[in-house]
Amino acid sequence: MSRGINTRCLHLQETEGQVNNYGSLSFPIYQTATYAHPGVGRSTGYDYSRLQNPTREHLEKIVAGLENGKEAFALSTGMAAITLLFELFRPGDHIISEADLYGGSIRLFDNVSKKNGLQFTYLNGASDDIESAIRPDTKAIYIETPTNPMMNVSDIEKIAQICKKHGLLLIVDNTFLSPYFQNPIQLGADIVIHSGTKFLGGHNDTLAGFIVTSNDEIIEKLRFLIKTTGAGLAPFDSWLLIRGIKTLGVRMEKAQQNALELASWLKEQKAVTKVFYPGLPEHPGYEVMKKQARGFGSMITFNVDTKEHALKILEEVKMIKYAESLGGTETLITYPTTQTHADVPEEVRLRNGITPCTLRLSTGIEDVEDLKAELAEVFSKLN
Ligand SMILES: *Cc1c(COP(=O)(O)O)cnc(C)c1O
Repeated sequence: MSRGINTRCLHLQETEGQVNNYGSLSFPIYQTATYAHPGVGRSTGYDYSRLQNPTREHLEKIVAGLENGKEAFALSTGMAAITLLFELFRPGDHIISEADLYGGSIRLFDNVSKKNGLQFTYLNGASDDIESAIRPDTKAIYIETPTNPMMNVSDIEKIAQICKKHGLLLIVDNTFLSPYFQNPIQLGADIVIHSGTKFLGGHNDTLAGFIVTSNDEIIEKLRFLIKTTGAGLAPFDSWLLIRGIKTLGVRMEKAQQNALELASWLKEQKAVTKVFYPGLPEHPGYEVMKKQARGFGSMITFNVDTKEHALKILEEVKMIKYAESLGGTETLITYPTTQTHADVPEEVRLRNGITPCTLRLSTGIEDVEDLKAELAEVFSKLN
C-alpha cells in the first residue's frame, strides 16, 4: 500500500534501502563534480554531476513519488524545466496553450520557442473550445490550473480526454497547487511541470524546477537532454529542496487556511472590486477544483477600484512584502502589470483580465490575525 503524502514527503531514505548514511536523517549533499572509477570500463553508476548526482536523484525520486509519476527531473529553475521540455518539439510543431500563464512562460514561447519554429494558439482553457483549435501539426496542450495570476480553473480530465483522442501530449504546470493538492498525471496528464522555487522549496530561498512524467519515451529523451544541455539542479540546492519538501503538507494546509480567511475578508473591503480565489463557492472553477484537487491553495488575486489604490497598497505594506514569487512561508504581494507579467504585451494582459488595478497575494503561514491587522491598516489609508 502506498504511504500517505505527508509520510512520502519525509521518508524516502529508508524505503530506498540502498543508502546507509551512518543513520543520518538528513540526506548527504554529494558536493562533487566528478566520480572516480573503480577500474577501466567500470563505474559506480555515477560519472559526472551534470549527468547524475545522488542528492539530486534522491530529490527526483521524492518528487516523482509525490506526483505519482515514474520519473522526475530536477532543473535549476522552473523556466529551465519548461525550456528543456520544449526541446522535445521540432520546428513546425503547433502547441495549444492556456492564454493566462506565468509571464515567464509566455515570454519563453513568444520570444524563444517561436524563433525556433514552434507555433502557438492561446486559448482560455476554462471556457474556449479547445478541440476546434487542433490542427494536423498540433503536438501538445499546455495549461496551468489555476492559472497565474487570474486563477482560471480548467478541467484536467476533460482536456486529457481530448488529448488522448487526438494523440496530443497534455502538459500541466502544477506550481500553484503543488503535488500536495493536485496530481495531474492521475487525471490523465502526460507531463507535469513545477517551479520548485515556489511551494516545493517553500522558503523563498532557492530556485528550482521539475518535470515529472510516466512516459518512458519522454523519460529517455529528457535524460539525454539534461545530460546534453546541462541545467540540472546543483547538489546543495537539491538538498534545500529535500528539506523544504519535508514540511510541504503543514505549510500548504496553514497557508490555505489563511488564504480562505483573507479571501472572505478582502471581499468585504470597500476598495476591493473583485476577488479571484477558487476556494470561494462563487468562483466559476469551484466545482471543478473540488472534483480534481484536494484543496484550493493559497494564491489570491484581487482587483481594487483604482490604480492609485493598488500602488498605495504596495507602498504601505510592511510585514507583507512587495515582491515577486510565491509559495513560500512569508506572505508576498505582487503587481503582475510591472512584475511577473511586465513582458506580456498590454493588450494580451488586459484580454486575460490583468489590469493596473490587479494585485496578487501569496498567502504565507503567519498568524492570520497579524496579516488581517496589517491589511486593515493599509486599507484604512486608501481614500
Ligand atoms: C514562477 C513560475 C514559473 C517559473 O519558475 P522559476 O523557478 O521562477 O523559473 C513557472 N510557472 C509558474 C506557474 C510559476 O509561478
